Amino acid sequence: MRSPKDMGIIEIDITNACVHQCANCTRFCGHHEKTFFMSFDKFKEAVDSLEGFEGMIGVIGGEPTLHPEFERFADYIREKRTHEKLNISWGPIADMQFHITSTVDKGLTPQSRAVLLSTLSPSYYKHFETINDTFGYQLLNDHSSESLHQALLMSRKELSIPDEEWIKKRDACWIQNTWSATITPKGAFFCEVAGSLDMLLGGEGGWPVEPGWWKREPADFADQLHWCELCSGCLDVPKRLAHDERDDVTPQMYERLKDLHSPKVMSDRVVVRDPKEYEQYRDPTFENGSEYIEAGEYIRMSSDNKSLYPKDIRFLTKETWKNEIKDNKPKDWIILFPDNDLNVEEKEFIRKYFESRIWNPGCLYIIDDDIVAFNVIGRSIRDVMSFPSCIKDLRSYYSKDKIIHLSTQDELVAVIGGDSETVLLRGNRENKRLVIYGAGNVGRTTIKYLNEKGITDFDVAVTRIEDTSDVLGYKLHEIDEYKDKVDDVLVIIAVGKWLFDEVVSKLKEIGITNYRYLA
Ligand code: SF4
Ligand code: SF4
Repeated sequence: MRSPKDMGIIEIDITNACVHQCANCTRFCGHHEKTFFMSFDKFKEAVDSLEGFEGMIGVIGGEPTLHPEFERFADYIREKRTHEKLNISWGPIADMQFHITSTVDKGLTPQSRAVLLSTLSPSYYKHFETINDTFGYQLLNDHSSESLHQALLMSRKELSIPDEEWIKKRDACWIQNTWSATITPKGAFFCEVAGSLDMLLGGEGGWPVEPGWWKREPADFADQLHWCELCSGCLDVPKRLAHDERDDVTPQMYERLKDLHSPKVMSDRVVVRDPKEYEQYRDPTFENGSEYIEAGEYIRMSSDNKSLYPKDIRFLTKETWKNEIKDNKPKDWIILFPDNDLNVEEKEFIRKYFESRIWNPGCLYIIDDDIVAFNVIGRSIRDVMSFPSCIKDLRSYYSKDKIIHLSTQDELVAVIGGDSETVLLRGNRENKRLVIYGAGNVGRTTIKYLNEKGITDFDVAVTRIEDTSDVLGYKLHEIDEYKDKVDDVLVIIAVGKWLFDEVVSKLKEIGITNYRYLA
C-alpha cells in the first residue's frame, strides 16, 4: 500500500452513469439502482483539497462527460490545474488511435495535471472542444477491444484465504499500488475501488475532503481496510473481457447485490462462482495498471467507433447561410462555399475529406483559402448564432489560434532536407528498395526533386489506388504490397502534415518500421 501523496494520479468520481456496463467494472456500473452526479460544490471542494498534490487529478465516472455540469467542472479544473487553454487536437485527426497514443496519452507533463478518463462516447464529442482545451492527458478506451477486467466482487473469506496470505496480498494490491485513491460524493478513500464499494453498498462514507487528506500514510488507512475484505482486486480470481458485460461474484456477494436490486443481477448478468471450485478457476492477479488493456493490444478506439466523426454536414453558400441557420437550425457542421459555388464533384470531394476525419468543433477551419467550416456547438459561436452577418464577423468570434487554415491538396509543408536528404542523395539506403509513400503535391515534388538529382530508381506507393494508376511516369503501388517485404524497403513519407498521422499509422499496421520523413 502507498500513501495517496505518492500516487501519480488521484481521481474524482463525478458520476456512475455510463454508456457501457462492462464486466467487472471498478465502478460497478450496472449494479446501481440509482445514478449519482456529484454536485459542483463537492467537485470544487475535491479539487481544492488537492492543492499542493504534485501528481495528476483524474476526472472519472462512469463516463464523466455524461455529467450535466461536465463543462463547468472542466473549466474549474482547468483554472486550478492547467491554468491556460491547451493547444491540442485542433488539426483534423485521420486516425484517433494514433492520435491517442502519440498526443493525448503521454503521461505526466506540465500540461497534463488534469486527466480525463473516458470511453469515447457521443458525449465526448459534445465536449470535444472543452476536453481538449483542458485535459493534456486523456486515458481513453472505448472498450471495443479485448480489455480484460479482473473480478472484484469475490470476498476472500468466502474463498477461505487465510489471514497471513491475505494480508500480504492486500498490501501488494496492484490497484492501490499502481492506480489511484479517489474522492466520491461521500468522501475521500485510500483506494478507488474502496470508494466505489462504499457508494454501491451504502457504506459510512470516506474521510472528510479537506486540504491535505491525501497525505495520510498506510498506517492511517485502518478505518477503510474493511472494504478490502469484500474485494477481490488483489486476489487470484477470474478475468473477463470487458464487453462480455457479466460480473464474477461469490455467493454471499451475490445475495448482497440481490438485496440492492442490482439491475445486473435482475437481468442475469452475473456469474456466481462456487468457492469450493476456487482452485479450478484461480487465475493470477494482475500486477500493474496496464495489463488489463494488453489483451486488446492497447487498442483504445476501434475503427468502427464513429462517435467522434461529423454527424451532420450542411453545405451552404455564403449568401444564404444566415437564413438557413435561422430557418433550419443545423446541429453540427456547416460548410460555407464561396459565392461562385463549386461543382458537384468538388463538393463531393470536400464532403469525403471532411467526413473521413475528426475535427474540433471549437475551431473555425478555412479550407483552400475559400471554404469555411465551423460547428454550431463550438463555444465561441453557439450562443451568438444570430449575430454574425458575414464571414468576417464569424471569424471575429474565434481566437486567432483557433482559426485553422488547411489545404485539401496534400499540403506542401515539407522540403527535402536533414536526415532524409542524406538517405536519398548520398545513397545511404542500406541496400533497400526506396519507396516514396505519397503521390499528392508533396509526393510529386519529391519525385521531381529526385529525378532532377538523377535518382530515378524507386517505387511510388499510395494507401489506395483510386482514379489513376501512375504518376509522373511511375506506376503506383498500394503500400500493402510491401507487407511481406518489410525488411527490404526504406519508405520515405512524402505527404502533407494533415495526412502524416494517417500514413504513419498505416505503416505500423503493416509492420514497416523502417521509414523516414521529409524534414
Ligand atoms: S466504460 Fe468504464 S466505467 Fe463504464 S462500465 Fe466500462 S469499465 Fe465501467
Ligand atoms: S483489495 Fe480492493 S479495496 Fe483493497 S486495495 Fe485492492 S482494490 Fe482497493
